[in-house]
Amino acid sequence: MTNGTGSVDIVIVGAGAAGLGFGVTLRHLGIENFAILDRAAVGASFLRWPRQTRFITPSFASNQFGQLDLNAVCLETSPAYSIGVEHPTGKEYAAYLQAVAKHFELPVTTGIDVLSIARKAPHQRFRLETNRGDIRARFVVWAGGEMQYPRTCGFQGAELCLHYSRVTSWDDLAGGERCIIGGAESGVDAAIALAHAGRRAVVFDREEPWNRKGSDPSQLLSPFSRARLHSAVESGRVTLCGGSVVTGVRRNGNGYQLALEDGEVFDSADEPILATGFVGSASLVRTLFDWRDEDFPLLTENDESTVTRGLFLVGPQVRQGNLVFCFIYKFRQRFAVVANQIARRLRVSTDPLKWYRRHGMYLDDLSCCEDACAC
Ligand SMILES: Cc1cc2nc3c(=O)[nH]c(=O)nc-3n(C[C@H](O)[C@H](O)[C@H](O)COP(=O)(O)OP(=O)(O)OC[C@H]3O[C@@H](n4cnc5c(N)ncnc54)[C@H](O)[C@@H]3O)c2cc1C
Repeated sequence: MTNGTGSVDIVIVGAGAAGLGFGVTLRHLGIENFAILDRAAVGASFLRWPRQTRFITPSFASNQFGQLDLNAVCLETSPAYSIGVEHPTGKEYAAYLQAVAKHFELPVTTGIDVLSIARKAPHQRFRLETNRGDIRARFVVWAGGEMQYPRTCGFQGAELCLHYSRVTSWDDLAGGERCIIGGAESGVDAAIALAHAGRRAVVFDREEPWNRKGSDPSQLLSPFSRARLHSAVESGRVTLCGGSVVTGVRRNGNGYQLALEDGEVFDSADEPILATGFVGSASLVRTLFDWRDEDFPLLTENDESTVTRGLFLVGPQVRQGNLVFCFIYKFRQRFAVVANQIARRLRVSTDPLKWYRRHGMYLDDLSCCEDACAC
């Protein structure tokens, strides 16, 4: 299936960290009849990161001693080894993903945008409507990620702001001071990059994410961001405004005005930056899932849709109970869970997955993920 039409056992939608990592798991199981489709390129989301943005999770080539590099998407690879940096940029990481696709000879076809997915009856194949024709598949693994769907609503005038994901380089932004709405990882990343470029940034957040404590990195600023934020605040270039709920943004002459819930207003010469996160791509196939809430699909214990058998989700939108799988080192451990289900239904041996279990790449007992840092 090179031109993006035809029929395969499994279609993986998305050639990012999740789609490729899952594809390698199928390869390890000896499954051949699958396709990975991407509307853009291998690692497209990473290629779109602002030029200055770096991974917050560090890479280290620790495979030799049985610990997989935190940013590896599959066994026997390490971004630290292939790129040689601890905190890769998006472009560097995309190069690692391209190397993975090449090394494992993954069947990736780019330039194929999956527009909709339907199935007439549970015993029939899925029909994926794409910009290049229809594809039929027995199983669909959704790996479309979230970076391409910025969350741009939430208050009046949000459309006047510049979403974090639309910035290609912080150095190129005009102006001396920028307001940033949202103080989690992306907002803090923007503030640090602006400070580094000699500008000033004022960060507004309804809470104080920079002061949060706990042991789950999904809820906290990473140590990498925390340390750099500390220096940026010390330099006087970054101001943090916690407990500030932005209720609206409007044009004010040639500039902008932010209204806060407590009645205060804040003038800004340049468009404010929205660092309010992303909406998961699974919303494109919303009706094929039941939903826990607006953002996260309800999944079986095997990360399969609870209402559409044969449709699985891999990547950062996976939630199981209170567990958030937003980082690569977390969601990669669920590839084997999904692959195990598909292999069984295709009557393929699942023996290679024992190797995954031995290397911490098969997380099916979630009781071991409790908040457990003693000190
Ligand atoms: C600024 C930033 C910094 C981050 N830092 C870290 C970090 O340090 N460590 C970490 O673990 N995680 C980090 N993350 C999160 C990490 O990038 C994501 O969790 C990861 O990219 C998710 O991988 P994915 O394959 O699910 O999605 P993506 O990498 O976004 O890949 C999805 C792919 O699907 C394709 N696609 C989407 N929809 C369709 C469609 N309908 N048809 C065809 N193709 C489609 C896209 O083109 C894309 O290539 C960061 C994220 C951001 C935004």
